[in-house]
Amino acid sequence: MIKKITCIECPKGCGLSVNIENGKVVTVEGNACLKGIKYAAAEIENPVRILTSTVLTKGMSLKMVPVRTDRPIQKSYIRQAMKKIEKICLTKTLKTGDVIDENFLNLGVKLIVTRGVSRI
Ligand code: SF4
Repeated sequence: MIKKITCIECPKGCGLSVNIENGKVVTVEGNACLKGIKYAAAEIENPVRILTSTVLTKGMSLKMVPVRTDRPIQKSYIRQAMKKIEKICLTKTLKTGDVIDENFLNLGVKLIVTRGVSRI
């Protein structure tokens, strides 16, 4: 199976044709450098993303606060991560970069706030 993806490792944005067999990358075409091959392999075989979202607050200066994981997580965990984030409610003053979960979903990543918030 051939899958078309765009390499996002640099602004050039090469269009890649990735030949996949049994979930593994066999060949990559269209890449202008070797980073494209590495990107295609990661994107097809083990796609990861920095998760960004917002969490609710109670009694705070903002109704919602933006959060993100400090490192990428596997895409397959995104749905589970969003369900957990939906249940979070912040009630204490935080500054940008503060950690609200040291080991989010037991994945070894931190969940941090990307905007400060204070109690009212
Ligand atoms: S393949 Fe290389 S040149 Fe092309 S977008 Fe990726 S990193 Fe940039």
